Amino acid sequence: MGLFGKMFEKKTCAICGGEIGLLGNRKLEDGNMCKKCAAKLSPWFSERRRSTVDSIKEQLAYREANKEKVAEFKPTLTFGTNTKVYLDEDDKKFVVTRVDPRKFEEENPDVIDFSQVTGVDLDIEENMSEDEREDSDGNSVSYNPPRYFYSYDFNVIIRVNNPYFNEINFRLNSSDVEINSHGSVPANMKPYPDMNRDYQEYKKMGEDIRAALTNARQQVRDEAAAARVPKQAVVCQCCGASTIPDENGRCEYCGGAAV
Ligand SMILES: [Zn+2]
Ligand SMILES: [Zn+2]
Repeated sequence: MGLFGKMFEKKTCAICGGEIGLLGNRKLEDGNMCKKCAAKLSPWFSERRRSTVDSIKEQLAYREANKEKVAEFKPTLTFGTNTKVYLDEDDKKFVVTRVDPRKFEEENPDVIDFSQVTGVDLDIEENMSEDEREDSDGNSVSYNPPRYFYSYDFNVIIRVNNPYFNEINFRLNSSDVEINSHGSVPANMKPYPDMNRDYQEYKKMGEDIRAALTNARQQVRDEAAAARVPKQAVVCQCCGASTIPDENGRCEYCGGAAV
C-alpha cells in the first residue's frame, strides 16, 4: 500500500475497539480514540493529546461512576443564567453545566465535592474597541485623542482537586456587556462600569458564586477539623466518674446527663 493508501487506512479506537471514520480520529499520546469515546470525557478535560490510552480508560471509569453521583444529586441552590452552578448543600457537592437538571442524567456533568475546591476567582475582562471617524477622503481614521467603546466579560474560575482537570472555567455573560449608552469614550477618560446595571448584576453573580463555594469548602474543612479534636473527659455530675460523654452529653457509665 502506497502513501496515499496509508492516508485512508482505517484506524481502530484503542478504547472501544470500534473503527474510526474519516475525520473522526482523536489522537492520544500512544493511540487513537473515536469521537463517541471522546464525547464521554469530562467537558473540563483538555489534555487529550498528552494522555495515554490507559489514563483515558481510567477517566472513562470515573465518568461512568459519576453517573451514580448525578442520579443522587439534588440541587438546593443555583447561581448563574447561562452556565449555572448547582449546589447540593445536603450532600456537600456541586456541578457546573449549561443543561437543565432534567437533562443531568443524559449530560453526566462532573459532580464535585465542596472539599475538592481549592480556590475561586472572578476575572472581569475589559475589552476596548476603537471608535473611528471618516476623513474627507472616506478613510477611517482615529479621533484625536482616540475614542473607545468598552465592553466586559465575566469569567469564573473554580480551581479543583481532580485527577483529570484542575480548573472549571466559564463565562457568566452570553454576550459582551457593553456600557456605551452614551457613545465612545476618549482614551484619557476611564469609564465607570460600576454604574451599569448589567455590569453590576454579573459582578454580583460572580461574587455570590465565589462566596458560596468558598464558604461551603470552609464549612467542610471546619467540620473535619472539629471531628479530629480529641474528646475531653469530664467528671460526671450524676455518678462522679471520669467520663467522655456521648454526643447527647450522657455519661458512658450511668447514662445520666454528665454535664
Ligand atoms: Zn471508541
Ligand atoms: Zn455518670
